[in-house]
Amino acid sequence: MSHTLRQSELFTKTRKEAPSDEISKNAQLLIRAGYIHKEMAGVYSWLPLGLRVHENIKTIVREEMNAIGGQELIMSTLQNKELWERTSRWDDSVVDVWFKSTLAAGGEVGFGWSHEEPIGAMLKNHLSSYKDLPIFVYQFQNKLRNELRAKSGIMRGREFGMKDAYSFALDEAQHDEIYSKNIEAYNKIYERLGIGDDTFMTFAPGGAFTEFSHEFQTICDAGEDYIYVNREKNIAINEEILSDETLEKLNVTKDELERVKTVEVGNIFNFGRQKAQDIGLTFKSEDGENIAPWMGSYGVGTTRLAGVLVEKFSDEKGIVWPESVTPFTYHLIVLDNGNDEVRADAERLFQEMESHKVSVLYDDRNVRAGEKFADADLIGIPQRIIVSEKTLASGEYELVSRATGTSTFINEQEILRN
Ligand code: ATP
Ligand code: MG
Repeated sequence: MSHTLRQSELFTKTRKEAPSDEISKNAQLLIRAGYIHKEMAGVYSWLPLGLRVHENIKTIVREEMNAIGGQELIMSTLQNKELWERTSRWDDSVVDVWFKSTLAAGGEVGFGWSHEEPIGAMLKNHLSSYKDLPIFVYQFQNKLRNELRAKSGIMRGREFGMKDAYSFALDEAQHDEIYSKNIEAYNKIYERLGIGDDTFMTFAPGGAFTEFSHEFQTICDAGEDYIYVNREKNIAINEEILSDETLEKLNVTKDELERVKTVEVGNIFNFGRQKAQDIGLTFKSEDGENIAPWMGSYGVGTTRLAGVLVEKFSDEKGIVWPESVTPFTYHLIVLDNGNDEVRADAERLFQEMESHKVSVLYDDRNVRAGEKFADADLIGIPQRIIVSEKTLASGEYELVSRATGTSTFINEQEILRN
């Protein structure tokens, strides 16, 4: 992606109002600022600015997955019915979010809402011996889910971006090592996204194979979950499993815990050997026995995270992106008022930024200052550089923080050093 863009060439326009049926703050702001387009409830397209933000989130996730040895792949959206029947998960009464279709040639296919079964089946071709383990793979993919309610904007889509990862290990110890590495990677991801302090690894329902799974829950008023948290002890429990038994097991009392509203930004699962067994995936152990590997599954909601960031980092004027995901580092704004020298200086600075690989959106439009500022506030690039008659006279540029509105001066070398 290009690191510079002239706003006069950006095809999206900002707008005063979001669609009247859009009730969530995240989608309202993202639509008004031109990041996304609403196709229908729970279905959004990602426009140039939005794509940049989502790609930045993916880059952070990708770097942390690669750092713990993940190998990236991408699996198909259309899925084989028989695979899911084998684990009894084709049935709509078992999995209530399936989208399905029929083939013209006969037979049914499912649209991928998860890839646990397909990845397990695929590995039958690549896993034969204990020497092949561990295996840790991940992908970024659009998941399709027929969610009953879609009122949380991009935080609950019917089509949404997810990073899903799958691990296969020869025994519990090897599995635990990968699982712990993923926990560390997840903590780094949320830290880098600026939500580390508000994100808790949370004990959650375990499913058929283990007592608990672990969710990563971020405190957020627009969330759909509740957790009980103790910040000092760094313990969090999903409300769904809060019971005397759970409290005892985790060695906390209910009055030590605070109930907070949250959104699930990640989820990790331990399937033991059960899932691979159901799928029919085995390897030859050192003793020559055919056994099923331990399997883990690790999800991060990448498009949901963009929504969470907007919910948490915005004000009445618009979005305030964290530096780590902002679509551009700087928003360069020229206030020339018909002064050709000011315009020429802004053009020159933009070209210098371009050649020094500084990331910048340049508002070169011939519109009023008020309109430029209102749009810049809505779009939410955290640092703004103003070029005006005042700055031309001073020889420095004005650097304005979107978050605080405070203004300082910055010289050209400092800008180009970035
Ligand atoms: P939820 O309880 O919110 O429905 P889930 O348990 O169904 O989530 P997983 O199947 O574990 O979620 O998916 C992994 C991650 O994908 C979640 O932690 C969440 O961040 C994200 N995610 C799940 N469903 C959606 C959705 N409908 N829209 C956007 N992101 C989602
Ligand atoms: Mg769900």
